[in-house]
Amino acid sequence: MHIRTRFAPSPTGFIHLGNLRSALYPWAFARHNKGDFILRIEDTDLERSSQEAVDVIIEGMAWLGLDLDEGPIYQMQRIDRYREVLRLMLDSGLAYPCYMSEDELNRLRDQQMANKEKPRYNGLWRPEPGKTLPPIPQGVEPVIRFKNPLEGSVIWNDAVKGSIEINNEELDDLVIARPDGTPTYNFCVVVDDLDMNITHVIRGDDHVNNTPRQINIMKALGGTPPVYAHLPTVLNDAGEKMSKRNGAMSVRDYQKAGYLPEAVLNYLARLGWSHGDAEVFTKEQFVDWFDLANLGRSPAQHNPEKLLWLNHQYIQNADPIELAEVAKPFAHALGIDTDHGPDFVQVVALLKDRANTLIEIAEGAKLFYLPSPSFTADQINANILEAIRPALSDLIEAIQTSESTKEGYAAAFKVVLAKHQLKMPALAMPVRYALFATTQTPAIDSVLVVLGKEEAIKRLSKVLQ
Ligand code: GLU
Repeated sequence: MHIRTRFAPSPTGFIHLGNLRSALYPWAFARHNKGDFILRIEDTDLERSSQEAVDVIIEGMAWLGLDLDEGPIYQMQRIDRYREVLRLMLDSGLAYPCYMSEDELNRLRDQQMANKEKPRYNGLWRPEPGKTLPPIPQGVEPVIRFKNPLEGSVIWNDAVKGSIEINNEELDDLVIARPDGTPTYNFCVVVDDLDMNITHVIRGDDHVNNTPRQINIMKALGGTPPVYAHLPTVLNDAGEKMSKRNGAMSVRDYQKAGYLPEAVLNYLARLGWSHGDAEVFTKEQFVDWFDLANLGRSPAQHNPEKLLWLNHQYIQNADPIELAEVAKPFAHALGIDTDHGPDFVQVVALLKDRANTLIEIAEGAKLFYLPSPSFTADQINANILEAIRPALSDLIEAIQTSESTKEGYAAAFKVVLAKHQLKMPALAMPVRYALFATTQTPAIDSVLVVLGKEEAIKRLSKVLQ
């Protein structure tokens, strides 16, 4: 079987990180099976759909590297096709016009509720052999309803939830087109999944209730239902449904906050799927390992600390040249001119072990690109104590002749510390202050390498004058 999966978002409202998990899994399943992955934009709800939301989805997927084989396909551009199928269903008796007005429907519902019955359409306009339909009312545009089977049940073996059986008695005749002729959501999904030869539908479990209806329509149209895998919801860290209102962030927000796409992909992959106890893995490994059997059955919970931890892992293990490339825009945003001053790759290499995000790298890099600090006499007296000056002076000399490496500078420090009977912090703190006007810097020997011997000596000498 040639596997074909799709991500079918409705571009309405806010697209949070959890939403993109519904793109990641079908993508990985298609890639694992050398199949096709399709993006279908379900934009028939004109009032709620927006281009902005479409852009967020497409950008987010591109950023995560979820490449497409087909699409984006917009449902609004397939309206003629839906109309064609509607016509075919009417002509072949699979669907029928229903003239029941909104008022009548409401009355019916009230009555059913009063009788403690489940509200459902009563089949008034459903044609049956030997049945006389009511006279067609004047000036009422009908909806079109699908003639759902009256008996039997719909059974499917959900790849996540196991076998599910719904009795057809519980399903009434679904409206598949509105009075103005526009097709409804469940109907479009079926036509698309059939036309696009989708073999596996991997989507959120908020669609479990739609599934038996979709399967019935699909079978009526002569199609074979795909395999369904319904993913449990992603909850936020407080255990609530994720939404913008309670602080959910979009993929774009994570990108702006300095997260790496590899880390976010790794994080999302584990949000409802596992491979033994593997926590950190590459995209290739993920595709290699991905299967439907290991999808989680209980709701996944968003864990911002874990995402940050993963981001740190990816930053720490990244190649400094590549990391510098992606960190550059963040540095530029802070006003750092990476073309002047120390080599940015070296700065990044120095900072990456301690940084959680690209913003933290940029913040840390600032130090190396600020102009050489100038001090008042009082500042110097307070921070470069008289007693330490001879050692500082010796250090300048030692640096002058040392190798311009971390080891070389460490050796220079060692000699001076021994000669003056000092502990490292006693010398390193004033040195940091002299170099940057702060005592918070990464390891001093590494800092000297990045800043450069000449610049370091210039700054150190300045405080001794
Ligand atoms: N458009 C639906 C949604 O965004 C998904 C439909 C589907 O995957 O079948 O929830």
